[in-house]
Amino acid sequence: MITGTTKLLGVIGHPVEHSLSPLMHNAALTKLGLNYIYLPFPIEPQNLAKALDGFAAIGVVGFNATIPHKRAIIPLLSQIDPIAQAVGAVNTVFRENDRWIGTNTDVEGFIAPLQLLERDWSQVVAVVLGNGGAARAVVAGCTQLGCASVHVVGRNLPKLQEFRDNWQDSPLKVNLQVHQWDSLPKIIQQANLLINTTPIGMHPHIENSPLDAQLFAHLPKDTIIYDLIYTPSPTKFLQYAQAQGVTAIDGLEMLVQQGAAALKIWLQQDVPVDVMRQTLQQHLYRG
Ligand code: NAP
Repeated sequence: MITGTTKLLGVIGHPVEHSLSPLMHNAALTKLGLNYIYLPFPIEPQNLAKALDGFAAIGVVGFNATIPHKRAIIPLLSQIDPIAQAVGAVNTVFRENDRWIGTNTDVEGFIAPLQLLERDWSQVVAVVLGNGGAARAVVAGCTQLGCASVHVVGRNLPKLQEFRDNWQDSPLKVNLQVHQWDSLPKIIQQANLLINTTPIGMHPHIENSPLDAQLFAHLPKDTIIYDLIYTPSPTKFLQYAQAQGVTAIDGLEMLVQQGAAALKIWLQQDVPVDVMRQTLQQHLYRG
């Protein structure tokens, strides 16, 4: 029930209608019995600064940022933490001493399901497909895990080079190489962790996969296959992985865990991750 003391959280984006964050955060807040509400705010890029001032004026506790604000918001914040600096993007903003502080919980979300696996990460070669926004959090995550090296494979050489060059100013020491898509058959022979950060295979193009079945045969037998996509589940990419009998991880847990990490920051207490996960599963796969 909304009352005179209800506190406000939310997500800014443009568009933001598709965001699943209100669903999972409100489910968690209800479970906790807290007088908070989490709302979607469609903010056009030119209104970002005004929105931040407005949020401060009305006492918003914190908010998530999604496309197109994840990078654009950085100069408007008082401070960003080292992980957001490393990624070069902010997905979570909180208020501290009347200042907006930015962080990035995508990294924690990405590594959460990997940390459940028994692996000597210092021996792991990670191969990342795609060089967009999510790939930046993935590269930071692989580096935090301690992977031996990270190879990013993309289709556009200037963008790949820019991606590589951006890491040179990062506080995170990344052992990174970039490669064009046609080197994939060779690169994946060394991959112990292969991550799809492209939208290839995402609903409604569910028959597509960044790798065909033939290429999967080139992978080492213990490779972990990770697809950031969560609809459908499993994607074609993960179906190929399952057919090879290797570990396959979809993007749902990353989505849940980045949300849980953000909610913990705002509430300063433990949050019901199970409720967040079940709410999304129900909505996405059984709705
Ligand atoms: P983005 O910034 O647009 O990056 C997409 C990347 O994929 C770009 O490097 C793009 O290449 C590449 N790409 C697109 N189509 C391709 C194709 N046909 N062949 C080869 N490369 C292709 O998007 P993003 O924000 O990183 O998101 C990427 C995916 O991750 C989406 O499916 C999104 O839903 C998912 N995601 C999931 C989570 C989660 O919590 N599970 C979080 C974030 C993102 P160019 O640079 O050459 O255009």
